[in-house]
Amino acid sequence: MKIPFADFTPMHRELRDTMMNTFAEVYDAGWFIGGKYCREFEKEFAEYCNVPYCIGCGNGLDALHLILEASGIGAGDEVIVPAQTFIATALAVTYAGARPVFVDIETEYYCMDPEKLEAAITPNTRAIIIVHLYGQVGRFEEIKAIADKHGLMLIEDAAQAHGATYKGRPAGSLGDAAGFSFYPGKNLGALGDAGAVCTFSPEIANRVRALANYGSHTKYVHEYRGFNSRLDEIQSAWLCVKLQHMDKWHRDRERIAQRYLLGISNPAVKLPRLNHDAKHAWHLFAVLVENRELFEAHLDSHGIGHQTHYPFAMHMHQAYRDLGYSEGDFPVAEMNAAQEVSLPIYYGMSDEQIGYVIDVVNRF
Ligand SMILES: *Cc1c(COP(=O)(O)O)cnc(C)c1O
Repeated sequence: MKIPFADFTPMHRELRDTMMNTFAEVYDAGWFIGGKYCREFEKEFAEYCNVPYCIGCGNGLDALHLILEASGIGAGDEVIVPAQTFIATALAVTYAGARPVFVDIETEYYCMDPEKLEAAITPNTRAIIIVHLYGQVGRFEEIKAIADKHGLMLIEDAAQAHGATYKGRPAGSLGDAAGFSFYPGKNLGALGDAGAVCTFSPEIANRVRALANYGSHTKYVHEYRGFNSRLDEIQSAWLCVKLQHMDKWHRDRERIAQRYLLGISNPAVKLPRLNHDAKHAWHLFAVLVENRELFEAHLDSHGIGHQTHYPFAMHMHQAYRDLGYSEGDFPVAEMNAAQEVSLPIYYGMSDEQIGYVIDVVNRF
């Protein structure tokens, strides 16, 4: 049996007619940027995240960058990010002209370790960006308490966490502001690049909206030196369609994850741990295997797709060599980078496919 790492076919087949009709609707409306479809999606996604403000933008990296710019964070400032994440979290800080400062992740949920956080705070620290890695919120309250104690802004990188919650509150509504990505492979994916900022702050919302549109609230009146990062009408309209199916898709990911959790019993494969304060969005089903290369070869030989998220911790990237970190500085992040394997989890996986993955993993 061949099982791809991800497969949009079941989702896209069901949505095909609606998506085509939506395309025709926007095409015929003849207005492609900054119109009613974008406003509609922003309104609906704000409701989904239970926040008063949502601003669409070009992608997830821009969303985080715009939040930092809108908060006046820049040269001379430090922003704390987890040592294991997708590089966009750190690049957003770099884009703003500030310095990313890495903090190790913990061994339970692979999110920022609150016990290592305070040591990284300096007089220059302005904000903390937490990442709900793989779709699960980590030790949020402990991090929030430290942010509050030091008067630091708390930003969520929620690019993997659409639909996740923490104590019943949606990801995207936990910090001062949150960045989302709608890259096609995310739990809510556009048919191209797209992103959004969610926030409770009218000031941040207002500035993000202007900054993403050339620093302008009114056409040709430029208050800030802004950027061009806009969510276009066709992506917005498609996202509105897809947003309506999020609960169904989430239930399906949950079904697959639960079967993996119950079925995989190989002691060589460390399963994801559930945070009982949180609802996992199951963007990725991440296991840790000490002998990763052998495990990957085993999956390959049985036709099971897999990926690694991510093979290098932040401080090990050539791109961030100049920050002066070295190997061994963030042991949990490095261990995760060396051992993580993501198994297939996507809407519409058949019981037979799930059973096959479990069987192959158990035979490793
Ligand atoms: C995907 C992702 C991003 C970046 O989103 P883009 O839309 O690709 O710019 C940022 N952070 C994390 C954790 C991600 O997974």
